[in-house]
Amino acid sequence: MQIYSSPQECSGCSACKHICPTQAVTMQPDSEGFLYPVTDNTKCINCGACKKVCPVVGSYSGNHVKKAYAVKHKDYDTRITSRSGGAFIAISDYVLKKGGTVYGAGYSDDLKVCHLRTETVEERNRLKGTKYVQSDVADTFSKVKADLKNGMYVLYSGTPCQIAGLMNYLKNTDTEKLITCDIICHGVPSPQIYADYLKYCEKKYGGKVTKFDFRDKAFGWRSQKEAIWVDDKKYNTNEYAYLFGGLDVYRPACYECKFANIDRPADFTLGDFWGIDVLVKGFSDNKGVSLLFLNTDKAESVFDSITNDIDYEPTVIDKVIPFNPNLYKPTAIPKDREKFWKNYHKKGFNYVLKKNYNKVFRKVAVKKLKEKKDNLIKKFK
Ligand SMILES: Cc1cc2nc3c(=O)[nH]c(=O)nc-3n(C[C@H](O)[C@H](O)[C@H](O)COP(=O)(O)OP(=O)(O)OC[C@H]3O[C@@H](n4cnc5c(N)ncnc54)[C@H](O)[C@@H]3O)c2cc1C
Ligand code: SF4
Ligand code: SF4
Repeated sequence: MQIYSSPQECSGCSACKHICPTQAVTMQPDSEGFLYPVTDNTKCINCGACKKVCPVVGSYSGNHVKKAYAVKHKDYDTRITSRSGGAFIAISDYVLKKGGTVYGAGYSDDLKVCHLRTETVEERNRLKGTKYVQSDVADTFSKVKADLKNGMYVLYSGTPCQIAGLMNYLKNTDTEKLITCDIICHGVPSPQIYADYLKYCEKKYGGKVTKFDFRDKAFGWRSQKEAIWVDDKKYNTNEYAYLFGGLDVYRPACYECKFANIDRPADFTLGDFWGIDVLVKGFSDNKGVSLLFLNTDKAESVFDSITNDIDYEPTVIDKVIPFNPNLYKPTAIPKDREKFWKNYHKKGFNYVLKKNYNKVFRKVAVKKLKEKKDNLIKKFK
């Protein structure tokens, strides 16, 4: 069974692998390092379940955003170690207190980004922070099903395509006790590029990478700097952040993402509250504010139970959308993407890293210069 006909038609959610009754589908990396389903035709019985469950080729059920809030977790340390305002921690604490399980993107022992099942605050803290790389959901969908069948509360957090795939997979399961969070998603970079980058850092700094933080908040919420620990010594750089900003390393499906809108697959949507200084004056301290959407009655009810842990202000959905483009359109494919990958395969990672760095550096410099000029003009008007 051919599940998809072009890479743009597969977001890699792996719902097809999970649903296949004969385990004919495995997820395997392509030449860019993204996982795609591969069918073993000797095992396939042509039941069509894999095609039916796919949220990209098929459909997903979206929940239109009902309410929007600016949110800051009251605990400063929680916020400083989260990407945005730490809304995820408040929601996941609610589920952990009910004896439930929390799933999200974390790190394996060798720093691969993958979805993990967690049961305690300590384990859940491994999910904190944004990882700008596609997370491998591995076998978590079937674990969620098992938890729900055992009567547990479950929180599952991921990209919108992962949540849409999970919900299609769970169509015949009782999901009363399942709470889901999707993120506003700019696109996911290749796991192979991330792995190459870690190797590059090991060579550059001469040691073993022991920890990686995709955004170091020590430089402020808006900073583009990552932190990397080599043999436990910390270094700050923006070479990986510039790969993310260069846009060439995203999964092909991301440039045609069907989830870049306000019909969300999850109960909650989490994002950065860009535009906060205009829309909720005095709320931000540059340490991070979450934009939190409540998309279902379930989300409204959970929100009412977490208000003791957060500072929050309501905001108008239509007003936040223009500040966060992936709420109304996918990221555009860069015109040089094909060239980037040709160079990568022919000349190697170090070559494209340097080339990309110079490209983004120039772009950032031009933007800063323009901002300075605009401010000067405003001053003298
Ligand atoms: C690839 C990517 C692109 C993003 N693009 C935007 C954007 O354009 N605009 C915007 O407003 N926000 C974007 N975000 C979301 C934002 O960066 C924060 O993740 C989100 O606001 C949650 O922040 P928090 O403070 O509540 O919790 P945090 O503790 O910072 O986030 C942890 C949560 O994020 C999830 N998560 C982290 N990395 C991944 C991943 N690779 N795949 C799936 N889930 C992941 C975890 O499962 C966990 O639930 C993006 C996130 C990712 C991963
Ligand atoms: S058609 Fe059915 S058996 Fe074949 S790969 Fe798809 S889900 Fe598996
Ligand atoms: S941009 Fe769309 S397709 Fe890509 S990971 Fe995000 S939700 Fe999935």
